[in-house]
Amino acid sequence: MRCSAARSLLALCAFTSAVIPCKAQVDEQTHQLSHDIFQQLIEINTTDSVGSVTAASEAMMQRFFDAGFSKEDIYLGGPNDRKKNLVVRIHGTGQNKPILFIGHLDVVEARREDWTTDPFKFVEKDGYYYGRGTQDMKESDAILVTTFIRLYKEGYKPDRDLILALTADEEGGKSNGVDWLLKNQRNLIDAEYVVNPDGGGIDLEHGKAIAMDVDATEKLYGDYQLTALNPGGHSSLPVPDNAIYHIADALQRLQNYTFPFELNAITRAYFEKMNTLESGQTAQDMKATLGATPDKAAIQRLSENPEYNSTMRTTCVATRLSGGHANNALPQTAQAIVNCRILPGHSLEEVRQDLIRIFNDPKITVRYENDAGGVFDTAPDRKALPPAALKPEVMQPLEALVSKMWPGAPVIPTMATGASDGVYTNAAGMPTYGISGIAIETNDVRAHGKDERLPVDSYYKGVDFYYQFVKALTVQ
Ligand SMILES: [Zn+2]
Repeated sequence: MRCSAARSLLALCAFTSAVIPCKAQVDEQTHQLSHDIFQQLIEINTTDSVGSVTAASEAMMQRFFDAGFSKEDIYLGGPNDRKKNLVVRIHGTGQNKPILFIGHLDVVEARREDWTTDPFKFVEKDGYYYGRGTQDMKESDAILVTTFIRLYKEGYKPDRDLILALTADEEGGKSNGVDWLLKNQRNLIDAEYVVNPDGGGIDLEHGKAIAMDVDATEKLYGDYQLTALNPGGHSSLPVPDNAIYHIADALQRLQNYTFPFELNAITRAYFEKMNTLESGQTAQDMKATLGATPDKAAIQRLSENPEYNSTMRTTCVATRLSGGHANNALPQTAQAIVNCRILPGHSLEEVRQDLIRIFNDPKITVRYENDAGGVFDTAPDRKALPPAALKPEVMQPLEALVSKMWPGAPVIPTMATGASDGVYTNAAGMPTYGISGIAIETNDVRAHGKDERLPVDSYYKGVDFYYQFVKALTVQ
């Protein structure tokens, strides 16, 4: 019966056997609610340049009021008029410390002329929803809002408080909402752990779910600027001391250097899982890295795979180069940018010192460049905390639900190589898990790109997943 509620759900029903009617689905009312919230969020422009996160926060706040949430359980606030964050609470029995769910409302810039459709119109076409934020991450914001409204209206009493924070400036901008809330309203979002659907998710290949990734820790992003200065002179009278050569030598030393092998609780769990999925030499090599004395040859072979390499160590790579001012002059300046992805437990300044040691050249200064392009003589002491072991109270219900909804797809703990808002919550001592019920083809990841889109089926399955997941985490 419910299947007829939506065209998009018919396909799912077809796969469901007659004895278990349409279990991976949502009812008509939920379908409509989740559709409308998704549409509303996509059509509110929340870019840093001209958009307003506050407008999206206020629209969601109104929905919570309409659903009957009381004023005391809703907070709207931020550093300025365009960057207000929303925090909402559902009260539980208080048996356990709260769970915080976070979602960023801002989106990356999108230009109408680059896109086939208007990026700020919610367009359904050929089985997809198109619009900026359909993958990153208004689909998950809408799912979280829908889930909170459903649970509240049902009168569901979780074993602990559930907190939802919808926030500003994850993608850029100066007013990161998670950071701001931690500094200004910590008591409102204090939790035992954090779930962030901005990470993880189901990987599809030709429609088949091959794995669910759970981002359980992340690397820290850091840019470093190398500069060599020289008095210069006429190029007809060259001398050995040359700014460009200094930079070239330094980059060559970097090319030949590998940061030390190091596993943490999450990357260890990743290789433990991956070695059961890989085969042959690769599986053996993974096993050989897990012992008390990791095998050097095995590490070297695994390092040839960029993904495994970046899982086992900090990486730094040259990404930009400039120098000189005329074809016939000795260079007075040469510069390069080195981009690092730093393992949890190591600070930005520690890696700056590593680079100085690797270059081993007093003629080269190594300075830290922040996200806003500011350059500093030293780097902050900021680091991502080494991750704690995965919580069974999160992983067990998750694995049970995934095996029901995507049979055969393993749950794989991963370390994200980018940085999400989890950097702030992890640093604040709240372990953060990137868990998303959204399934995307591995070759159709369009976050930040043009014509961002999400399969309609993936959306409603994600709606169903989160509702069941939150309940599974908090049954009394
Ligand atoms: Zn995102």
